[in-house]
Amino acid sequence: MSSAEAQAAVREDLRRGHRSGRLAHAWIVEGDPHREGGDLARWMARLVLCAREDGPCGVCRDCRTVESWTHPDLHRVVPEGKSRQITVEAMRVTAKELYLTSFSGGWKALAVLEADRMGIQACNAFLKTLEEPPPRTLILLVAADPSQMIATIRSRCQTARAGRPPLPDGPWREVVLEVAREGAPASVLDALRASHRLAAVLDEAQKTAVREIKAETADEDLEDDEINARAATRMVAVREALLETLLAWQRDVLVLASGGPAELLGFPDQAETLSAQAARLGRDGAIRAVNAVETMATAFRRNLKQPGAFEAGFLSLIAT
Ligand SMILES: [Zn+2]
Repeated sequence: MSSAEAQAAVREDLRRGHRSGRLAHAWIVEGDPHREGGDLARWMARLVLCAREDGPCGVCRDCRTVESWTHPDLHRVVPEGKSRQITVEAMRVTAKELYLTSFSGGWKALAVLEADRMGIQACNAFLKTLEEPPPRTLILLVAADPSQMIATIRSRCQTARAGRPPLPDGPWREVVLEVAREGAPASVLDALRASHRLAAVLDEAQKTAVREIKAETADEDLEDDEINARAATRMVAVREALLETLLAWQRDVLVLASGGPAELLGFPDQAETLSAQAARLGRDGAIRAVNAVETMATAFRRNLKQPGAFEAGFLSLIAT
């Protein structure tokens, strides 16, 4: 299933849920709030606010004002101030607003963008609303990485995944494959070199994202902090793709090292290089390599800085 098809299926499920009156009232929308996550959140808001019964139509006044975040029954909360936190005060005010009658007399929606920037106090201020929401209210917590949200919030929400953001073409895929083709590092120096090459790719991705966001939001006059935070979200998408590519490679090595058939390979055109690496590592070594990539991913999730996280992984791979 392509990601566009997957996204169409997600939306069809939501549409069916709404038509049958079984749409959950609280959702975590997983995706970049300023790209695909924000798009899905607005689509969900249109689902309940669209003037047409078989909506969202995308063309009525309700749909159009949701698109520009100006619909009177669509509330939006975003991080504020230098610390870029969602404040307790903002969540309290919003909770009160949600209990008021909507302008149209129908549905209301709330979108919290960068919901992972709600501190404990803001979360606590909002828990009661999540538990006893006003009728006909759709709550959308949009976050690129919902795992950063506290469990008491997450456990009260359904999750809607906004699918993959478009990845920048950039040099990242080529560099990852080059590093992968070199195989397990022979020395500490090799390990450091490999990890620095990947870290440099991510630095570059961050810089590219800053340039893109500046161009996209030229008329919004965003603060540098805001631009950097948005760029970091895009960079994380590249990082995840990079780690997935690396993991797919190591899985191929493991397939061959375990005597599996070439039909199972994700990189069939690299079969020769993969076979050589499989022969050198053996099955145990290939398992170690898969684990090393997973260790890198875990290290990143614990907020270890690159290149530290890459180094830990590559150092553990040095051929013994
Ligand atoms: Zn509409």
